Amino acid sequence: MRQSQLFTKTQKHAPKDEVSKNAQLLIRAGFIDKLFAGVYSILPLGLRVFYKIEQIVREEMNAIGGQEVLLPALCPIENYQKTKKEDLDILFHTKMNNGQDLVLGMSHEEVITPLLQKYVSSYKQLPQAVYQFQTKFRNELRAKSGIMRGREFTMKDMYSFHTSQENHDAFYKKAEDAYARIFERLGLGNGKTLKTYASGGSFSKYSHEYQTITDVGEDLIYTCKGCKVAINKEIIEELKRECPECGSNVLEEKKAIEVGNIFKLATKFSDAFNYTYTDEQGKEQPVIMGCYGIGITRAIGTIVETHHDDKGIIWPESVAPFQVHLVSLCQEDSDVEKANALYEELQAKGIEVLYDDREGVRAGAKFADSDLIGIPTRLVVSKKTLENETIEIKKRTQEEPVIVNQSDLMTHL
Ligand SMILES: [Zn+2]
Repeated sequence: MRQSQLFTKTQKHAPKDEVSKNAQLLIRAGFIDKLFAGVYSILPLGLRVFYKIEQIVREEMNAIGGQEVLLPALCPIENYQKTKKEDLDILFHTKMNNGQDLVLGMSHEEVITPLLQKYVSSYKQLPQAVYQFQTKFRNELRAKSGIMRGREFTMKDMYSFHTSQENHDAFYKKAEDAYARIFERLGLGNGKTLKTYASGGSFSKYSHEYQTITDVGEDLIYTCKGCKVAINKEIIEELKRECPECGSNVLEEKKAIEVGNIFKLATKFSDAFNYTYTDEQGKEQPVIMGCYGIGITRAIGTIVETHHDDKGIIWPESVAPFQVHLVSLCQEDSDVEKANALYEELQAKGIEVLYDDREGVRAGAKFADSDLIGIPTRLVVSKKTLENETIEIKKRTQEEPVIVNQSDLMTHL
């Protein structure tokens, strides 16, 4: 992508009312744009990150047998009445022309349960795990955490359907492992994101949240050093301030943001919709359900909160919008031609390149933009490097660049 043609550009300042670091940096660097509080447009750079996160999550869901669908956002209110969620403050309501009440989905048990009921009714057709990436709507009272808490956002939500609690629990464990791999791949692993014990509601002892530790987090969690799990604020007293896995009472209070959660739903939703299957003996049995969420837009904000410095974003390789930021300081036509050729060559080798080919922009401004956008590897080509047949390489995480021979470039990428 030629930066001269990129339709967004970097800005010196973020909107004054934008207090969160993730939104300030994402807006200034041209990844997102704010329409109003809690509602953002995702711009070309941001969408590249979005799709990479989505793809990582998709691969891990497919690996445990998930099948992807896309459910509607509009839902008849009757479905929410069945699950007694129709009066929730955070539910957005709307109407059809004929007066029928609809809601904008905030989660999709109300759509997926009757859908499965239509197609899956025998033990022979179970288990099933179905997931989607969908826009969700929540009428939040306040939305001040940038894209970490939006009124409209994208989530991956998976729902599992099993014939017994035992089979469900085995799948739940698989999902836990998949979640650990996802956060590792997103650059949120290695102790940054902890499986956190949370209230299971009335139908299970616990649910699990995936909480990323960050000072701007809205949640308080209590972490156990020994087993790398945490407990959320709601159940810390109930657990007598002890780790549920090792019994240690040496717990550290930390601020965190919830990036995912997994729930054992037991028969809560199958009961609400009277969803049963026929077992080997021909008897009707309730279907055992689970749900598994990850906030995709929230993950973008969380990655930025945990990967930045005072100059800008520092994207992990796995989700960076481009692998290489090629910055040209060339001015003479013959040099510009060589820089163009290098850009074509890198692309031909399958490398994703943002090419800063802008004319009339000072070197200092180009470097500042490069640091702000945060692509992992910066290459600088100039009259001087071309004369010496070299190129300057700097990782976003490094202070000083390294000069290498142009012929050796590929071994450094
Ligand atoms: Zn422990």
